[in-house]
Amino acid sequence: MDVVLDILDDFVFTPYLYPTSWQTSYWLRQFISLVIIVYVGATVLYFGTASLCYALLFDKRLMEHPRFLKNQIRREIKWSIMSMPLMNIPTAWMFYLHHRGYGKTYHGVSSNTWLGYFSLPVEFVLVVLFTDMMIYWIHRAFHHRLLYSAIHKPHHAFKVPSPFASHAFHPIDGFMQSFPYHLFPFIFPLNKYLYVMFFVMVNFWTVSIHDGECKVPDVLKPVINGSAHHTDHHLFYNYNYGQFFTFWDRIAGSYRNPSIFTNAGPLDAVIEKKLSTNQNKTAEDVDSVSPPDWTTTVKRKGESLRLAAS
Ligand SMILES: [Zn+2]
Ligand SMILES: [Zn+2]
Repeated sequence: MDVVLDILDDFVFTPYLYPTSWQTSYWLRQFISLVIIVYVGATVLYFGTASLCYALLFDKRLMEHPRFLKNQIRREIKWSIMSMPLMNIPTAWMFYLHHRGYGKTYHGVSSNTWLGYFSLPVEFVLVVLFTDMMIYWIHRAFHHRLLYSAIHKPHHAFKVPSPFASHAFHPIDGFMQSFPYHLFPFIFPLNKYLYVMFFVMVNFWTVSIHDGECKVPDVLKPVINGSAHHTDHHLFYNYNYGQFFTFWDRIAGSYRNPSIFTNAGPLDAVIEKKLSTNQNKTAEDVDSVSPPDWTTTVKRKGESLRLAAS
């Protein structure tokens, strides 16, 4: 975030926003700048990614599912717009603490290990594993009856989510589910570019698991906690809490084979309902266009002819 902050300080904040008495090193100025950067970045990522996912991947027939709410997309966007400014304040505070050097983020190559540039892929893997574990347990804790109604319930208002539900969280929920990404560099060294890259990547991932589309190679389907798994989490609550992988769900007993994989997902229900409606319609149509009863008509004609002849 330091690089983004430096660039915006030079071209936007110093010339247009802050009084000249507010030096770039002033803590309040740095914090406000980070709030602005995080808010604008998260909003652009949310609307950009969710809109693209909605336009290109989300199957609109899901909106005909009986559990897809009236005006649902508007509600999802409203929740996200209301929550993001609040969840971005503690997020910006985390970035601020790392910017001021309270954590273990670093530029360039880590001096803490002998790995050199190999520390980047190692850190990448460690962040994924660390956050995957922590987010599983945080998410699972939010399903505890003492926390669910107060914090996590708003996200589960959407039983068949669209990509716009990805950021529709209570602010505490939204922040806590990203907190492990900020916690990691307080404990372990982390390259600053990787730190920001994860902030962007997690926004993409969060949208992607809400698009109802499971574009994962068959061999990875049992391993990756994708949209199919998260769709069942919204529908059945106590299953598939994971973030990237199904590992923690499997060992903690909350794994559920996604209904989409067995052709019993929400889209299958919509298609099935449409097919049965069409079949009923076709039967009605056949009834309405089939001849009334030629035999009767002929008989009646014959009868009337006979009557006429006699
Ligand atoms: Zn949940
Ligand atoms: Zn969700």
